[in-house]
Amino acid sequence: MDVLDELRKVADNPYGYARRLKGEGRAVIGYFCSYTPEEIIFAAGAHSMRLFGTHGEISRADAHLQAYCCSVVRGALEEALSGELNFLEGAVFPHTCDSIQRLSDIWRLTTRFKFFADVVLPVKLTTESSRMYMVEVLERFARELESAFGAGITGEKYLDSIRTFNKLRAGMADLYRLRSARPGIVSGSDFLAVVKAAMSMERRACADMITRLAGELGKKGPSSNAGGGKRIMLAGGVCDHPDVYRLIEESGGVVVWDDLCTGTRAFEGMIREGGNPLEAITERYMTRLACPAKHRSLTERGERLVRDAKEHKVRGVIFLLLKFCDPHDFDYPYLKESLDREGIPSMLVELEHQLPPEGQLRTRFETFMHTI
Ligand code: SF4
Ligand code: SF4
Repeated sequence: MDVLDELRKVADNPYGYARRLKGEGRAVIGYFCSYTPEEIIFAAGAHSMRLFGTHGEISRADAHLQAYCCSVVRGALEEALSGELNFLEGAVFPHTCDSIQRLSDIWRLTTRFKFFADVVLPVKLTTESSRMYMVEVLERFARELESAFGAGITGEKYLDSIRTFNKLRAGMADLYRLRSARPGIVSGSDFLAVVKAAMSMERRACADMITRLAGELGKKGPSSNAGGGKRIMLAGGVCDHPDVYRLIEESGGVVVWDDLCTGTRAFEGMIREGGNPLEAITERYMTRLACPAKHRSLTERGERLVRDAKEHKVRGVIFLLLKFCDPHDFDYPYLKESLDREGIPSMLVELEHQLPPEGQLRTRFETFMHTI
C-alpha cells in the first residue's frame, strides 16, 4: 500500500482507527477545533482525535441543542449520545465560539466519559496579559491531563511532542506549497484525506508519512492538472466533504490554497524547540493566522485573505461556511468586501453535515467558473 492509500484509509474510517489505538492501550481524546493544545495531550501519552460530527441523521442531539447550532456541534453530540464515540476517554473544549461553549456544558451533563476539560484560552491575542494568562491556562490543562492519566509530563516529553508536531506541520506546509506550484498534483479529495488523517492518525506515524508523501510528490513530474482548471482558493470553516472538492474539479476548477479550519489554519506556524514548552506553544497561538473566534485586529483576516489569493494567483475564492456558524458569518461580509476591492471574484456556499443535492451544487460551481 502506498503512503497516500494508508492516509486515505485512516481518513475514511477514523473511528475504526481510533478503536484500534484504544485496543493498543492509548487513551483517545476528542477535540473540535485547532485551538486545542494537542502537543500537551501527546506529551501526556494520549492521542487527540478531531471530531467532525456525523453525516447521518441528527435526532438525539436535538433534545439538547437548538436547531440553529452548527452541524459540527449537533453532530458530535449525536455521536456521543448514540455510543458512536465510546472509544473516547473524553474530550477537550477550547473557549471559542458560543456553540462549542454550550456543547461543553451539555456534554458534561449528558455523557459519561472519564476525562473532560474546558481550555479557556483568551479571545484577544495581542496583549502581554493575555499571553501570560494563556500560559497559565495551558499549565492547568497539563495538570488535568497528568492527574487523569497518571503520567508526569517531563521536559523531554514536551520536546518530543513539539518536534513531532513541527515535523507534521512542516510536511503539510510542503504539501501546500507543492499543490500551489503544481495544481492537481493531488486531487482535492485526496488532499482532504491527508488533512483529516493529520488530525486523526497517531501523530508520529503520520508526520513520517506526510514527510514521505511530500518527498515523493516533490520528485514527480509536472502537474496532472492537464485540463488547466481555474485556480481556486477555499475560505471559511470546517469542510469534511470530499464531494465538494470533486465537484469543483468537475466544474473546471482546481483548489490551490485555503483558509479553512480544516486546512492551513490548523497547520500554520512552528513551535520553538527550546525554553519553556508552554510558553512556546502560546507563542504559536498568539502569532499564527487567527480564526474569527479570536481577535488580533479588525482588518488582519481580510488583508491575509487578499495576500494569499494574490500570492497563489487564484482566479476566485469560494467561501464554504457551515450553516449557523456565527463567527464565520460575521466575518464574511467584510472578507468579501476586501476581495471585491481587489477585483477578486468570490462565491458563498453554505454547507451542513449533509450536502445539498449534487446537481444544485454543481450548477452553482459551474456558473462561478464561467464567470471568472
Ligand atoms: S472557526 Fe475558530 S473556533 Fe471555530 S472551529 Fe475554526 S478554528 Fe475553531
Ligand atoms: S466555529 Fe462555527 S463551525 Fe466551528 S463549532 Fe463554532 S459554530 Fe460550529
